Amino acid sequence: MVLRLLVFLVFQLAGAAAGWWLAGPWGAAAGAALGAWPWLAWDCWRGARVLAWLRRAQDAGSEQEPGSPPGAPPPRVPGVWGEAAERTARLLRQGRQRELAGNARLQDILAALQASPNGVTLLDAQGRIEWCNQVAQEHFGIDAGRDTLQSIGNLVREPAFAAYLASPDPAPGVLLPGRASSSARPVRLDVRLHPYGDGRRLLLSRDITQLEQAEAMRRDFVANVSHEIRTPLTVLVGFVETLQNLPLAEDERTRYLGLMARQGERMQRLVQDLLTLSRLEGSPLPGLHEWLDAGRLVRQCCEEGQALSAALTPGGQAGHVFSLPTPAQLQAAGEVAGAPAELHSALANLVNNAVRHTPAGGRISVSWQPLPDGGARFSVSDSGPGIAPEHLPRITERFYRVDRSRSRDTGGTGLGLAIVRHVVQRHGAQLHICSTPGQGSTFSVDFAAGRVRAAAPGAARTPAAP
Ligand code: ADP
Repeated sequence: MVLRLLVFLVFQLAGAAAGWWLAGPWGAAAGAALGAWPWLAWDCWRGARVLAWLRRAQDAGSEQEPGSPPGAPPPRVPGVWGEAAERTARLLRQGRQRELAGNARLQDILAALQASPNGVTLLDAQGRIEWCNQVAQEHFGIDAGRDTLQSIGNLVREPAFAAYLASPDPAPGVLLPGRASSSARPVRLDVRLHPYGDGRRLLLSRDITQLEQAEAMRRDFVANVSHEIRTPLTVLVGFVETLQNLPLAEDERTRYLGLMARQGERMQRLVQDLLTLSRLEGSPLPGLHEWLDAGRLVRQCCEEGQALSAALTPGGQAGHVFSLPTPAQLQAAGEVAGAPAELHSALANLVNNAVRHTPAGGRISVSWQPLPDGGARFSVSDSGPGIAPEHLPRITERFYRVDRSRSRDTGGTGLGLAIVRHVVQRHGAQLHICSTPGQGSTFSVDFAAGRVRAAAPGAARTPAAP
């Protein structure tokens, strides 16, 4: 500022000196007054340059995309105007950097909200959509591009949602059908509002379809288990009371005790199958480090099936007609990798099912064959009643039975195929069921090439039986 005054004085003195030289003392006074004008003009010119640059910077700033580089550098003018321009430019640069950092942070936060597995919608104080992520768009069937600043109440027209939106207490949330919900594929949403800021609201939506299905399955499972245990228990208690209160003949007593033993065995089998299922769910996946003799495994399952057939066939009647792999085929079966007890349980279940569900005299065929891709197929076919197509999608569910009384009469628990499905999945294999009502069924398990190998001569192998 001192320099500015000095320069001004120099201009006036120069004018005064020129006036003195030309016209004496009056000329000096007039020269000093006139000398200030060039300085003023020069100063205005510098100020105008700085102002023009500021205007350009302002225009460029309003048109600039957020995050674009700063505009032209400040004009190089001497004196206070130059310093003011320089300082303004520095302030502008700092402001721009802060804006860039804030913008990057906002993008990070939006990207995090976008990555959320739940739907996130930001509503303004009037309930209009300010922003929503992709999941929310799918949940409510909205389009962020088209529906931003639209009222959410106009887009989601469920009465329960309208009531919830208007309610003063958003805490309990509301359950709604998702936009993609249909009777074949229901979608259930848990929707909650959370107030924030100045009357704004955060709308969170969570797909709870699977959670609800799992909960329903758990309830059904508990009800089924209770029912399965209650039936034999009721029979047992009834027989015990009869034995306690009635004077029975010896043969009657023996018959009742036999029936009681059957009910006890039924409960035992049920508990055993439940334990097997819970072990399957809780244990680590079987690896490739344990190889067992596939031929021996198949032979064992066949022998157990034949024993069951004999036990189920009343004396004097012809049992089932078995078609089993020859010893040479069993020898060539090679090895399969997996948990011995699990594989035995699954394959034996399939053979036992064929025996139990095929009337005496029916045909049952068991085979182990190599597949073209290097894998192997274990397959059990029977000439039993077959399974109608509508039952096939649910046949491996726990306690699902086509013929409830036949299943019980032959000692079934309704858990056999659920165990088979679990074991097959755990071994990365595929279960195929082919059935024609009235003609029979074929259950096959395809093992992948990585789980099957030719028997190494003299290699130590795990026995197939558990
Ligand atoms: P279960 O103990 O009743 O046999 P599973 O889970 O093993 O239970 O089988 C479920 C249902 O599938 C059976 O009740 C039966 O209706 C049907 N099923 C299974 N295997 C056969 C088969 N080989 N032939 C006909 N139906 C079968």
